[in-house]
This record gives sequence, structure tokens and C-alpha cells, in this order.
Amino acid sequence: MTRNSTQAQPTKPDERYSRQVLFNGIGAEGQRRLGEARALIIGCGALGSAHAEALARAGVGRLRIVDRDFVESSNLQRQTMFTEHDAAERIPKAVAAANHIGELNSDINVESEIADVNHSNVERLIEGCDVVLDGTDNFATRYLINDACVKHETNWIYGAAVGSYGVTMTVRPHQTPCLRCVFEEAPPAASAPACDTAGVIMPIISVVAAVQASEALKLLTGQFDALHGSLMQFDVWRNEWRKINPGPPAPECPTCGLNRFPTLEASAGDFAAVMCGRNAVQISPTRPTQVDFSALAERLRGAGEVKFNDYLLRFRTGEFEVTVFQDARSIIRGTDEMKTARSLYAKYIGN
Ligand SMILES: [Zn+2]
Repeated sequence: MTRNSTQAQPTKPDERYSRQVLFNGIGAEGQRRLGEARALIIGCGALGSAHAEALARAGVGRLRIVDRDFVESSNLQRQTMFTEHDAAERIPKAVAAANHIGELNSDINVESEIADVNHSNVERLIEGCDVVLDGTDNFATRYLINDACVKHETNWIYGAAVGSYGVTMTVRPHQTPCLRCVFEEAPPAASAPACDTAGVIMPIISVVAAVQASEALKLLTGQFDALHGSLMQFDVWRNEWRKINPGPPAPECPTCGLNRFPTLEASAGDFAAVMCGRNAVQISPTRPTQVDFSALAERLRGAGEVKFNDYLLRFRTGEFEVTVFQDARSIIRGTDEMKTARSLYAKYIGN
């Protein structure tokens, strides 16, 4: 869906961006370039909220925001784009973000998409985008972004935060190392601190997202010399700040050296995925479909409590809560076992 709020009286651009135009690194020409740029934000949780706000306020002309989830009260401590109302109504994050951006800068165009980013849509999503910002919470999606961006020569900005620690790196395909040059394999799930065991505080989100947003502004205005050119690490609790020089791109890197993009190929393994720190499993339908929420609600009514809005249907049965999106993708909460989630999906949603 696309939102372009022209109904509000837009601020005069010269006034709105005057402080940013005064800033040497951007200037009038940089501002013009920002207005013509399109940025893709993948994942609109804590980092993505901060990216979206920073780029919208800076006047990046087109923002494409993709997120698979809906707002919950546990998000509000750090996901600055959302309100208690969004959580109470379970508004999908991509929609809530587009609504709020429309209120803070009606001059820009926001395309929001409620979707799980995977091999089937990532290349379409990055098409026509000048930069991609990583607001995801898992390595699988980051390797997918890395493969798609290297294949299409699109700059992207990796970012991650957990606890009080954060890390970021900017990837310019074939000019700088890609994610796989630096981390050949994703850390095994059990060894990496996950959001459910380590938690996370908002200040580290702000730090990582601020560096990512600054890098995006540099890329979009063509200020490549100003990029930090490192793997940058921070810990705002231990007071450690580090810049690691990742060297040049690795010639033997499977992605940017050998041009292999395995994550872009279809595989059956994509069907179900455990969601980081959520005690939840996401199930994707095996074939494209559109759900009729009122018909499904009617069917489920005898089996538990059902509610739905324009974007999603929620069904509670026993200790499980099933959230179904229009494309039949579902998030099953109350388990982190794929088998249990799959059987609940087959029983109640079908497909
Ligand atoms: Zn590489």
C-alpha cells in the first residue's frame, strides 16, 4: 500500500530542511538528492523505527518499509515509531509506521508492505532503491539482504543490537567487504545472545541506528569519503567503542568474490521459522493465497476466541495464539517447536 499525504498543508521545503541545508556535508544539492532518493527499510522494529524516523525527517523522498509483524506492548520500550494505541489494536508495524510518518512529514511518499522478507520477494523489494537499511533481528535475513544487494550492486547498511552491545557496517558491493567476507557463517543460534535471554536497552538502539542513518545520508548524497569504512562496535554499558578495519573484499568470498547467491534460491526450508525471542513460530503458506477473514472467523468461532481487523485475524485456543495475515502467513505464539506450530496451522488454517 502507498501513502502520500498531500491533504495536510506541507511545510515549505526551504524552511523545513534549512538547518540540514546549512550543514556543509549536505547543502542544497545534497538536500535535492535526498528528496529524489528511495530507501528500503527491512524490519521496522527498534532499529527500523529509528531509521524510518531519521530518514523521514531528513526528507528522503521515498521510503519503502517492510515488516512481517504487528505492534505489541513489549515493543514500546524501544520501538519509537509506535504508540499504546498501535499495540492495543495490534496494528502491523509497516502500517503503523506509515501512519506516523504521514503525520511527521507529509511531503514524502511511504510504501509499506506487510511481509516476511524471503527469497521470493527480496529482489523485487530492493528494485529501484538507492540504499537498504537492515532493521532485522536475525542472520538468515541479513545473508539474504547481503546476497540480493551484492547481486544488484545496491548499497546496504548492516546493524544489530542486543543487551547494551551493538554493531554496524556499511556494504558497498565489490568496493568494500560484504557481510560474508566478514562473517563467513552465521553464529550458531545457541551461542549468539538472543533478545529473549539478553534483553536490550534503547540507548544502544539509538547509537547503532544513528550511525546507520548517517551512513545512509552520506550514501544518498554521494559523500563516500565520509563513510566510516569499518566494522563499528559499541557497548554503552561497558563504555567500549571500537572500529575494526575489515580490509578489502575477500577474493574467495562466496558472495562478492565468486558471485554465488544461495539464499536467493527457493527451498522448502523456508516454510516455517522460529522467531527470535518470541516463543513463536512463523508459518508461511506453501502457495499464494488470500484469506477471507470473516469466513475464517466464522469457521474458527467454535474452537476459540477470534478477532480480526483489516490486516490480521487473531485466534486464541488453549495456551496458543494464532495470528493470520491476509496472505495466510501466520505467527503461532505459545511454542517454539516447529512441529507443534505446523500441526496447529494445518488444523486451523489449512493450506
Ligand atoms: Zn564478500
